[in-house]
Amino acid sequence: MNVTCVFAHQDDEMRCLGTLLRLHARGHRIGFVCVTDGGGGLPFGGPDGEPAAAVREREMRAVAERFDAQYLCLGREDGFTTGDAALRRDLIAALRRLGSELIITHWTSDYNDDHVVTAKAVTDAALFVNLASFEPAVAALPSVPRVLYAHPGEGYGFEPTHFVELSAAHVAEKSELIRRHDSQMAVMRRLRGYDYADEMAAETHRTGARLMVAHAEAFRPCLAERRIPWPTDLPGPLSESGPLSESGPLSEEGV
Ligand SMILES: [Zn+2]
Repeated sequence: MNVTCVFAHQDDEMRCLGTLLRLHARGHRIGFVCVTDGGGGLPFGGPDGEPAAAVREREMRAVAERFDAQYLCLGREDGFTTGDAALRRDLIAALRRLGSELIITHWTSDYNDDHVVTAKAVTDAALFVNLASFEPAVAALPSVPRVLYAHPGEGYGFEPTHFVELSAAHVAEKSELIRRHDSQMAVMRRLRGYDYADEMAAETHRTGARLMVAHAEAFRPCLAERRIPWPTDLPGPLSESGPLSESGPLSEEGV
């Protein structure tokens, strides 16, 4: 299965990294699309004057490398994303280039309008990827990808329905991957006194508590026709022994 993460900014993938580690260990292919160039990401300046967009491109590629993933940036202006026809075309093309079968994206309500615009735009674009008459320059896919919305944090009307259990090792690696976005960790520490890795570790612990396990990530499916995730798209409890986790090269052991 080709799993495509479509988020507004380089670092937003932090909300599903544990799930990506489990999916990647099962042999699924991961791809990343960022809608903006992240150019507003250094409000206090960078260490050596390097433009924010270049810093964030480098940091995002370091995360993508862990998953042997392709990374596509649509280059919209950070903080000013609008859901126009050009964005829909670019998303249709990106989803096709990555052969997307399952999309993970932002929840549809959030503190940041780039996130909200991205969630709607990619959900709309998904419905066109199998129709060759739309954006004909890039070959159509055989079917519409399923869509999952990642937990946006508390307070946005998000009631999760799908949970992925994580081990302590998953959480540790998730923190290490989040901290590959060095520039954003520095911004967060200056603004709040802690960084995103700390925040996500606390959130996975709170989410896990709902299932009476140590750590978990949470999702909601898009329920629009043809975009409903097949029940087996996500890994479940760590004790689960599905057919993929039992076969040698796709084993999750050691992850
Ligand atoms: Zn963001």
